[in-house]
Amino acid sequence: MLTDQHLLRIPGPSPIPPSVQQAMNGTMIGHRGKETKELLQRILPRLKPIFGTKQDVIPIAGSGTAGLEMAVTNAVRPGDHVLVIVTGAFGDRFTKICNAYDLHVNRIDVPWGEAIDPSYIESYLQEHPEISVVFATFCETSTGVLNPIPSLGKVIHQNSNALLVVDGVSCVAGVETKMDDWGIDILITGSQKAFMLPAGLMFISASDRAWEVIENNPHHRFYLDMRTYKKSLADISTPFTPALSLLFGLDQVLNLIDQEGLNNVFKRHLLLRDMTRAAFKALDIPLLTTDEAASPTVTAVQPTDFDSEELRQILKSQFNLSLAGGQQHLKGNIFRVGHMGYCSPADALQTISLIEIGLQLIGKNIELGKGTAAAQQIYIQQEVK
Ligand SMILES: *Cc1c(COP(=O)(O)O)cnc(C)c1O
Repeated sequence: MLTDQHLLRIPGPSPIPPSVQQAMNGTMIGHRGKETKELLQRILPRLKPIFGTKQDVIPIAGSGTAGLEMAVTNAVRPGDHVLVIVTGAFGDRFTKICNAYDLHVNRIDVPWGEAIDPSYIESYLQEHPEISVVFATFCETSTGVLNPIPSLGKVIHQNSNALLVVDGVSCVAGVETKMDDWGIDILITGSQKAFMLPAGLMFISASDRAWEVIENNPHHRFYLDMRTYKKSLADISTPFTPALSLLFGLDQVLNLIDQEGLNNVFKRHLLLRDMTRAAFKALDIPLLTTDEAASPTVTAVQPTDFDSEELRQILKSQFNLSLAGGQQHLKGNIFRVGHMGYCSPADALQTISLIEIGLQLIGKNIELGKGTAAAQQIYIQQEVK
């Protein structure tokens, strides 16, 4: 086996493009100098279309969870009532962060594998006018569900004055996102998923409505005070030392996205989703989510007649192919295929055909090539269209 070839098909961290890896090796520069200002000048405007916003998108050193916590400490006042929509492990994390800050936390739990039905929130918000912020997850990475944020935004803003905070960590930059049009008040994402970078950067943006709350919020905060970053941004600088090597990489990621075209990036992810799902359907292996709820960035598979852990182990040992397992109560129950960021249709075909070998090796009787052929068909059909 080629020991330096790692086929990383988990929902983050995701593979790094070679040109991005190389860019990150750039010579270190001073963070108060002209080079950093020019770097930020190149980066900042190009983040806006990815978020679908006219607002500033702020890159900050920290993992995605730091961004979630930043949203909580800036958008929620001490003692506020909040609602967290929990569709899986990452919605659950939002409740943990809120609980850490002594808020009144209401949660709506949706069975794992399903998306939230926005009409359910309608009556809930009417009955709970005290709720000031609603937290939702765009792509619930633990189940491969893409929640309907556009209709959720509509329902929330028609039935309450609450702000909508969205965790977009595992899909923004891979899935079309329209923060302004959809009524998202704070959107957060991270670097190691669809952004094709190592972990260590998070990105956050806020609406005018949210900024009003943030500016006047007495909540204690320092490193994660959004006001500090806004002030520095006016001068195209950062309050603290930015993660410069990651910004070198980000500059090149944005070049790659420009070269491919942002819409083509989104289309590629939809294609990867359809190819992956078609393969498992052809092999008669159940998927956790419906087609309607499926995320373009990660697919969860729920086998009934083989052990997903055994499959993952054999793929790792034979091909150095990593798939993800399930989280919390889905541990051992499902496996997840990441197809986000630096992942092409060719990569998807490789993953699928290796999974077919793995299935044979663990004794699941399948017709070799059946899943691959179904994925190939999806590819060919979309090319003809
Ligand atoms: C990965 C992920 C996070 C957490 O990001 P970290 O970088 O590990 O802190 C948060 N939300 C979602 C939906 C994710 O997929």
